[in-house]
Amino acid sequence: MQFRSTRSHTPQVSFKDAVLRCLPSEGGLYVPTAIMDLRQFFMYMDDEISYPELVTAIAPALFQGELNPFSAAKVAESAFNFEPELRRIDDDLSVLNLYNGPTGVFKDFGISFLAAAMEEFLKNSGPAMILSAVRGDAGISMADAFSGREKITSVMIYPSGSIRGLDSSTFVPNGGNIIPIQVRGTFDDCQRLVNETINDRPFADRYNITSANAINPGRLLPQSLYFLYAFIKIKKHLKGDLVFSVPSGNFGNLIAGLYAWKFGMPVNGFIAAMNANNAVGDFIRGKKFIPKPLIRTCSPALDVSVPSNYERLVSFYEEAPAVMHNMVYPASISDEETLDAIAEAWKKYRLLLDPHTAVAFAAARQLVSSREWSGHVHTVILATEHPARETDIIANVTGQPVPIPAKLSALRKKSDPVAVIEPELEALEGAVASCF
Ligand SMILES: *Cc1c(COP(=O)(O)O)cnc(C)c1O
Repeated sequence: MQFRSTRSHTPQVSFKDAVLRCLPSEGGLYVPTAIMDLRQFFMYMDDEISYPELVTAIAPALFQGELNPFSAAKVAESAFNFEPELRRIDDDLSVLNLYNGPTGVFKDFGISFLAAAMEEFLKNSGPAMILSAVRGDAGISMADAFSGREKITSVMIYPSGSIRGLDSSTFVPNGGNIIPIQVRGTFDDCQRLVNETINDRPFADRYNITSANAINPGRLLPQSLYFLYAFIKIKKHLKGDLVFSVPSGNFGNLIAGLYAWKFGMPVNGFIAAMNANNAVGDFIRGKKFIPKPLIRTCSPALDVSVPSNYERLVSFYEEAPAVMHNMVYPASISDEETLDAIAEAWKKYRLLLDPHTAVAFAAARQLVSSREWSGHVHTVILATEHPARETDIIANVTGQPVPIPAKLSALRKKSDPVAVIEPELEALEGAVASCF
């Protein structure tokens, strides 16, 4: 698979180069130049298939010439000691649990694949450094996926405040390969520092720096595989149409679903489930996208005013606007409706939903009734966060104590950074250099 920038049709780069560069030098985001039909690889798969088996079978076709079957098997095995889990709840409703990874958030799927694929790609070349601005738990996910990977150092910078759940024995000064650095500033400062560092060519080339943030195609494309997995598990129970409801913030998850559709997955639509931060809904309905000020909600991972994948979304609409208008259905869910959805899912199905998944649940409910889908549409809700990470909200609404698995409770412990720096390029570069 070749990639180009959303802003230009040339030059084209390989998957490996797109992963190791993350962003095209001409601006924009990397998108595939052509989409393959993968139906021959997944239409006849047995519904007992495991996730690593599915990844092993499809990745060599997707990344032909770059991941041979042997490498793909290694990547699948080393990335995925956790699996998605499709639960059929009702004739017209399933939940795809994507929260069984090390940090209890669906982002583990993309990050784990990226880390394992990078290690494989670097086998015959020099070392590389992955620099990421992280917030909240993205740091744990990053540390977990990259820790111990050969030839990779993972530098994570995070804004003032604490980071949790890191294991200091994995840090570079202690013989590991992880460098957490606290920046005396905001998350925006951290993102700016990542861009400045990558654009400081002499420094970036010395350490072979790329970024692992959500726009890296090595994170995004593999996410399409769990949509195929859900389809394989559900297909023999389908009587009518199939729709996925996706809690959407930066729109990576939704775009991964659109790629799965382009690969040939028979699907009738995607619900772009947003909270009050719903400006992209206007764009999807054919109007101009006008970013609105950020609103804080009880589903904070969806509090995004300009999605980082916006240009990718636009490229789908430029190609086939009429088709897209029948493929993506926007919905905007208030905090009150989110809490009601948590209560309803518990009462009706004994399901514990985190607020992000509850946005997707409420959006599906809304669309099924307003579009008269009832009775002939099966909706798969993507569950993006483990309920144990939202114990307070869920316990409040349902009156149920939420059990916390041991692996998730360990994530709550505060960690000390390797360095604390001012939000300046020289400070960051100095802190990195002093680790070697
Ligand atoms: C990141 C995140 C989302 C949003 O996913 P995007 O790909 O950014 O749209 C939804 N739910 C949770 C729990 C998240 O962490």
